[in-house]
Amino acid sequence: MKKTLLSFLILFNTFDLAFGREFEAVVRNRLNFASINQVNLEDLVSDKSFDGVHFKIVKGKSNEAVSFEADEELVLKAATTYHHLTIARNYFINQIQSNFVSSIPKMIIRIDHINQFSELGHFANDNLSPQFNNALTIPGGKGLASRGVIPWETEIWFRPSKKVHLSELNTNNLGSVQVKSVLREFRNQTHMQTFQRFLAQSVNIFINGTDPSRIFSVDQVVRTAGSSVLMEFGYQFIDPISQLTSRKWYMLETALVPEIIYHEYAHAALSDHLVLSHSSAIIEGMADFFAGQIAKSPKLAKHIKKYNTFNGKNAKKKQDYMIQFEMGEYANTDFVFGLLWELKSIIGKEKGEAFMYELRKSLTTNSSIRGELTEGILKTCEKVCDSPFIDKLNILKALNFRGI
Ligand SMILES: [Zn+2]
Repeated sequence: MKKTLLSFLILFNTFDLAFGREFEAVVRNRLNFASINQVNLEDLVSDKSFDGVHFKIVKGKSNEAVSFEADEELVLKAATTYHHLTIARNYFINQIQSNFVSSIPKMIIRIDHINQFSELGHFANDNLSPQFNNALTIPGGKGLASRGVIPWETEIWFRPSKKVHLSELNTNNLGSVQVKSVLREFRNQTHMQTFQRFLAQSVNIFINGTDPSRIFSVDQVVRTAGSSVLMEFGYQFIDPISQLTSRKWYMLETALVPEIIYHEYAHAALSDHLVLSHSSAIIEGMADFFAGQIAKSPKLAKHIKKYNTFNGKNAKKKQDYMIQFEMGEYANTDFVFGLLWELKSIIGKEKGEAFMYELRKSLTTNSSIRGELTEGILKTCEKVCDSPFIDKLNILKALNFRGI
């Protein structure tokens, strides 16, 4: 009893002392281009560093919050992640009314963090293939007392960007050296793979010539966060903030892309059911769905529709979903994302979000598209849809059209 009262008082005090402060952050303007604007960061508890009631932004393996006096680029990344994580958290609490999200303890957010994740040690050894151009959400861990590794909660990690000139990518038969075209090729030719696997098969990466120590694997340099549709959208509109980014360079500063920040937070918000043990088409597609909702961008919605090539007008050839695609490696995030997006319009815009949030309860990280996802969608409709009988018929029609 005493303990509860004490923690209540501590919590009360923390909120009581929290305040807002203006910072520059990357936001989307009306045309969806990235621009740097003044934003108000809510719920800070330190007047010196990016330490708040719900998020603490640190650099790399550090446990100290990034100082307001740090170098300009680091401050921009810290403010941008803090700002968009707050938007994402508020969305799940206010719009979705998620009790789970309200209960998530303060999260540590790591920016410019290159270490790989280790389930036992939290961080893998420093010189074990450093990571760039991507982001990930890691599950909490018990730590390893004998090695001095203390327990940790769910964290989000943003990797620093690394420039790769596309002429340095050996793009074999792609015949194209523009990032946009590479993404498009992916969708036109090999729908049923993850973008990363597609690149691994068609691209070898050499940086600074053929010095073996400078050869990076695709995993280290080009890794997607979510579907190629969402990624291309983020990529397309990032030019104005980074003069370095041209059509012939690949780099992704994930801590400065709002949609990627939303995607990562969605993983944390859904992790009460979709545990973060490994990435699958379903958990990526679900995270992208919510990233798309939080971004609330009509332009993004249009983009998703246009490039959802499984049945869209832009599809060069009709590709149905086939059971063999599901043998693990071939399940495709873009497919799930496009499907969920379409279902929202069947169920109704308002109900759609609640539906997808409820849907997570019928899924696990190991669910298959043809099995649990399909069953889960129909089961969720029983609970959530306004007219389950008619809605289920329409859902079945849509699934059937996609070859499921
Ligand atoms: Zn993801």
